[in-house]
Amino acid sequence: MTPDHPSSFRARRGTSSGEHAHRGRGEEPCESCRTAKATYDKRRYDDPRVAQRLRLAAKAQGIAKTKLVAQHRDEYQTLYRAAKQEVGLTNDQ
Ligand SMILES: [Zn+2]
Repeated sequence: MTPDHPSSFRARRGTSSGEHAHRGRGEEPCESCRTAKATYDKRRYDDPRVAQRLRLAAKAQGIAKTKLVAQHRDEYQTLYRAAKQEVGLTNDQ
């Protein structure tokens, strides 16, 4: 186990699901998990049928997010302001 990897992640260290778990906890993924995810993604995108399906899924997600924001504009603005503070932006940036 590397020092930058929480012990609770030991079983999933260096995996794509480990990378997902890091992000779910609001952490930057450790190097071994980041590498595993990059390898997983590259393998998926190497198959043109998978790549096409992923592009269409990303397009559908974009459409759905735009509609979700339009339907919940006030809530979105509140979340956006909070997120800007989290990353260190002031509300006038
Ligand atoms: Zn990790």
